[in-house]
Amino acid sequence: MPSPGQARGQMLRPDLIRHQCYIDGAWRAAASGETIGVSDPFTGTGIGDVPSLAAGEIDDAILAAKRAFVEWSGRNPRERGGLLRRWHDLVLSHAEDLACLITLENGKPLKEARGEIAYGAAFIALYAEEAGRALGEIIPAPTSGRRLLVEREPVGVCGVITPWNFPVAMLTRKLAPALAAGCTVVAKPAAETPFSALALAVLAEEAGIPAGVINIVTGQPAMVGERLTSSSIVRKISFTGSTRVGAQLMAASAGTIKRLSLELGGNAPLLIFDDADLSVAVETAMVAKFRNTGQSCIAANRIYVQQGLHDAFVEAFSERVAALTSGDGFDPATDIGPLISEAAVAKVDRHILDATNGGARILNGGLSGEGRMCRPTLMCDVATDALVTQEETFGPLAAVIRFDTIERGIQLANDTPFGLAAYLCSSSPATISRVGRALESGMVGINTGLISTAFAPFGGVKMSGLGREGSHHGLNEYLNLKYLCEAEL
Ligand code: NAP
Repeated sequence: MPSPGQARGQMLRPDLIRHQCYIDGAWRAAASGETIGVSDPFTGTGIGDVPSLAAGEIDDAILAAKRAFVEWSGRNPRERGGLLRRWHDLVLSHAEDLACLITLENGKPLKEARGEIAYGAAFIALYAEEAGRALGEIIPAPTSGRRLLVEREPVGVCGVITPWNFPVAMLTRKLAPALAAGCTVVAKPAAETPFSALALAVLAEEAGIPAGVINIVTGQPAMVGERLTSSSIVRKISFTGSTRVGAQLMAASAGTIKRLSLELGGNAPLLIFDDADLSVAVETAMVAKFRNTGQSCIAANRIYVQQGLHDAFVEAFSERVAALTSGDGFDPATDIGPLISEAAVAKVDRHILDATNGGARILNGGLSGEGRMCRPTLMCDVATDALVTQEETFGPLAAVIRFDTIERGIQLANDTPFGLAAYLCSSSPATISRVGRALESGMVGINTGLISTAFAPFGGVKMSGLGREGSHHGLNEYLNLKYLCEAEL
């Protein structure tokens, strides 16, 4: 816990940092001895290594999950819920250590890492409750002498793959409903952030979650993906990450007809209308754009401002962007941490160069060049076809585009193959209702940039994915319906 006076990244329980994978309740290195290095994005120095498992070792984890499924799925759901509750309580009682781990390997400001722990733990608490609510149905039969019953049963062994941008929450959002439903899991965290996932496994073990129910593996991503998707034991893949990899996993799952949950990339628009409250609009843009240093799938990538409010908005927004402090995530003053890689900084620079070549003006920040620190940047007069409007920036670059009519705003917002989140700011109930329904996205933030909660269904349409996570809907992703037609004897 890096409280003032403590060394950077120091934890109360250093044993939460594991350099081995968790398979069948045991901590294992790769038999080959091969490892993958993990570095601190701020300092660039190594934090440690995790195993680079071989295909056979991934298969061991799948078999362990298969064996564990028999006992785990047969347990009373409320008993499973009770174990999830104990895991939740342990996550919260180790919140500072876990937040510290996130900041160490992801680089995000510690205050945001703490927020992620609360958010991630909320999924475990929610599904501890939902475990006992996988309700069935009795359907009135069309002919007498029959009973038509519908039950829900767990899907089976699930393969889970998660990204680095929310290393704890993206995992608990999958593991908690899977376990509540009675499924067992083989999970692969991102190479950049495996330690948070392994620490969650330490706490799951301490909570009494049986061996084989959660298996955490690390290794070459294409190989792990191939073992999970080609296995006939694995009945579902739940993936959060890029649309490119999601599409590959979807195609690779076709051979064994798996269920899929895909939480993929976004390219969220924020529409600010003339009648919006200026301070609400600025706050919405700040949160929707700069949270997690812009490295969020629901980050506002394109900020469309209607003609009448444009200049006032840009001036007020620019003042707020200028006040952002960049630096070490462990420094309490930091708002903007490093990006996950130098390639991520290069992508932001590419978007800036492309936009300025098309006539955009830079009001704050600018090109960052080498290293992983990226300057918080605001551009206006961005062309409607600039690169930044086409693809996720995944960095602290705010691109403002002017529009005139409501129809044009909706058209611009929907002009994308993605449909994860969208935002709008207006004080008119008629505009809110009309635009909220017209936006082609799975989620809409209305006068707020903060929409994520465990209690609402999170997910996209179009190329942003399939399925929903969070809320009672998230449990159904891990349950199959079984219809029983019973003739009376
Ligand atoms: P990514 O490259 O797709 O990686 C995500 C995960 O997939 C990582 O664990 C990665 O492993 C693994 N992976 C990579 N190639 C693979 C393959 N061929 N087969 C199987 N697994 C493979 O995405 P990212 O750059 O880490 O994350 C950013 C993306 O995630 C953005 O597009 C963002 O919008 C999206 N995202 C979406 C949501 C949502 O809820 N919709 C939430 C967060 C992020 P390695 O790390 O080992 O390469």
